[in-house]
Parts: sequence; structure tokens; C-alpha cells
Amino acid sequence: MSNDQNTDRDRLSNERTSEVATAEATVPPSDERTTDLRPGADNCYKCTACDTSCPVAAVDDEFPGPKFQGPEQWRLKRSEDTDIDESIMSCSNCMRCDSACPSGVPLSQMHNTARGEYVEGMSKLSREYVRNRILANYGRLARIGSRVPRLTNFVMGNRVTKWLNERLLGITSEREFPAFATQTFREWYDDRGGSKIESEDRRVAYFHGDYSNFNTPEVAKALVRVFESFGYEVAVPEQRCSGTPMFANGMLEDARRAAKFNVETFSELVDEGYDIICSCTSCSMALRQEYPELFDFEDTEQVATHTYEAIEYLRLHEDLDEAIGETELEDESALAYHAPCHARNQGLHRQALELFRELDGVTIEDVGDSCSGISGTYGWKEEKYDYSMEIGEEMFDHMRDADGTTGLTECPTCAMQMEHGTGYEIDHPLELIEKAVV
Ligand code: SF4
Ligand code: SF4
Repeated sequence: MSNDQNTDRDRLSNERTSEVATAEATVPPSDERTTDLRPGADNCYKCTACDTSCPVAAVDDEFPGPKFQGPEQWRLKRSEDTDIDESIMSCSNCMRCDSACPSGVPLSQMHNTARGEYVEGMSKLSREYVRNRILANYGRLARIGSRVPRLTNFVMGNRVTKWLNERLLGITSEREFPAFATQTFREWYDDRGGSKIESEDRRVAYFHGDYSNFNTPEVAKALVRVFESFGYEVAVPEQRCSGTPMFANGMLEDARRAAKFNVETFSELVDEGYDIICSCTSCSMALRQEYPELFDFEDTEQVATHTYEAIEYLRLHEDLDEAIGETELEDESALAYHAPCHARNQGLHRQALELFRELDGVTIEDVGDSCSGISGTYGWKEEKYDYSMEIGEEMFDHMRDADGTTGLTECPTCAMQMEHGTGYEIDHPLELIEKAVV
């Protein structure tokens, strides 16, 4: 692992730890934490660094920005006991403001909490609530749709269905619904008889999330093969959605149920010596940051401290860079790499660049530090679609300027946006590692 990456990760990790510590020291404990973060607001000295980092505020004149959504909103509540402003629903939960704040204000925690409170007061029959609940619970629908993948793909790709989704639910018809795989990752894993490796001391538990299971099993299969090639036993326990789309839509009760299941399941494996690895940077973000900020299940902290993004884990525990440096790809490829916002928050935005620069046959270009604009479910909302594309324009331009027509990113929805904006094929870094070392 390079010193640069170590330093980045350590710095961000220390900052995050101190932010969480500050927040925990100043906010009321456990249950109350989900409804009162007002003391955290006092750490804000109004520098507006968060506002200038916010991609939504840059394109949406109606959005007052993170400083208002966080500290100011809580101050207002303290002095006037006002309701949460509806503009909180326009925050995409990209969490860029978290990294921008020099004062450790727990902005995304405030936003998530405010959104949860706002959604509690929404009409459960409103079109916005129904649409957001559907988007937030994608995994439940995917479980049903993936039983008949070809039929579902046909129906969801149909122009009439897209038109109805937009008119009735407010889900944009501009995007292609992601196709379901004909065999889910979990079916593949069971069919091959689970992990091919058994090990007492090299064991990881894979949090694959819904998207890798139902839509891009090739990413999840690559992870299993890569880890097995380094001698790891890879367990794939039952799991629920990480909660990321639920946090983004204020569905905190749904998120709480999913998180509780995940914490209980994965903590048992941690007790047996497994570390937790994720192929999606938003999933690792949820388990290591959002769960401890929002929930207080018995083993939340234990799960958080044992969670890693998959490539981060290999770089920490194996000499992945050397393994990559000793090999060469048969087919030359030029890659345009986008670091997801949630990878930045975890200090992981340089790792793919550092790693693949060592790989013969590959040229890799960073397409800049802008947000892709889709932010999970944000870019799927009819009224946000144009903003989402406007935010993504900088990334699309850089991708077009880069050599080659293949994109690379760790986040499945950033991949969707990259493909949508450029027509490029988008790979996951794990697929490239598989090609190089397995
Ligand atoms: S999470 Fe992203 S969209 Fe929301 S306020 Fe922060 S920077 Fe803006
Ligand atoms: S960056 Fe932090 S300190 Fe500055 S305005 Fe935003 S919340 Fe306040």
C-alpha cells in the first residue's frame, strides 16, 4: 500500500473519528440522537465551505445548501421550534459537505436526521412519498423481478412502462431501467458450493448489496475469485440493503430494520474471525459511518470497525500493488476513472489510480473530482433528472477528453450515470483485478 493512500485514509479516518466523537460528546445519547442534533450546530462558524462544495446547490437555485440544512435548521428549531424545511428532500446525500467542513459539524448526520423527521410528517399517500419509498426499497422489488428476469427486463424497458412510471410515480423516463441478470450472484455462489477456500485465519464476509446480487453479479463473482486467489475464504451471509437509498429518502425506519439485520448477521461472523468487505463504496460508507451515527444496536461499532472496501482491504493485507505490477493485460485498454463521492469520504479516491498505473497494458485517467450527479436515487426522480445531468456534465466532458471509451468506478449508480452520459462501457476495478491476477 502506498504511503499516500495510507496517509489519506488515516487522516480521513482520524478526522471522521474525531467528528463522530465530537458529535457523540455533544448530542444526547441513543434514541434521542435521531431527533436532536442541535448542540452539533454550535460547532459551525459559518465559513460556507460546505455550501461551495455542494453539487446540488451549484445547479438548483431553490436549494439553500448544507449550512442551512444542517446547523441553521437546527438553530431555527431551537429558537422557534419550526418544522423541518421541505428543501431537505433535495439533498442528494452525496456527503461531500461532510469532507468540506473544517469544524467537524456532523452535516450528513444532521441531514439524515432532518430528512427522517420531515418524512415522518409527509402524507403516506402522496406521490412523492410512494415514489421515494419504492426507490428506497429497490431490493424488495428486485427480489420479485429477478425471479422472471427476462420478463421483468422486457416490461421495465418498455416505453409504455417508462411513460407510466413517470406520469404516475415521478420516476424519470429518460433512464434505462437496469437489467436483471438471469442468475443472481447468490444463486451462482450456492451453485458452486460456496467458497472454494476454507481457512481459519484468512476469512472475509462479503456484503454484496442488492445491485451486485441482482444486476451486476459479474462484479460480485470477480470479488470472490480475486479474494480466493489470495487464499481467503469468502462467506456470503444473508443480508438486507445497506440502507443507503433509505437514508437518502428519509426512510429511517426501513433503514433501521435493514441495519439491525445486517449488524446482527455480520457481527456473528466478526466474532468468528471474519472481516467485512464491500464492493460498493456506498455500502462500506453506510456500515462504517452511517450506522454508528444513526443507530445504537449492540454491535454497531464492532461491525463498523471491521468493515472495509474490498480493494482497500487487499491493499492493507496483501501486496496487491506488487501482484498487479508483475502482470500484464493481454488486451490494451485506456480507462476513464471516476472516484465516487462516498469513496472520497472514506479516503479511497486515489486507490484505483495508484493501483492500475502499475498494470502493464492499461492507461488510466482520473476524470476529476466532480460528483457524477446521480447520487443513487436522486437522478431517478423526474424533477431532479435535469439537475443530475447538469451536475454530471463536468465528468462527462472529462470522460470524452480522456483516451479510450471505457469507464471505471466502484459505485454502481455512478456507473449508470457514466454510461448514460457517454454511452461508454463501465467496469468495476474488481473486474480488472480479476483479469490481471486470477
Ligand atoms: S450531502 Fe451533498 S447534496 Fe446534500 S447538502 Fe451535502 S453536499 Fe449538498
Ligand atoms: S463548513 Fe462547517 S463550519 Fe463552515 S459553514 Fe459549513 S457547517 Fe459551518
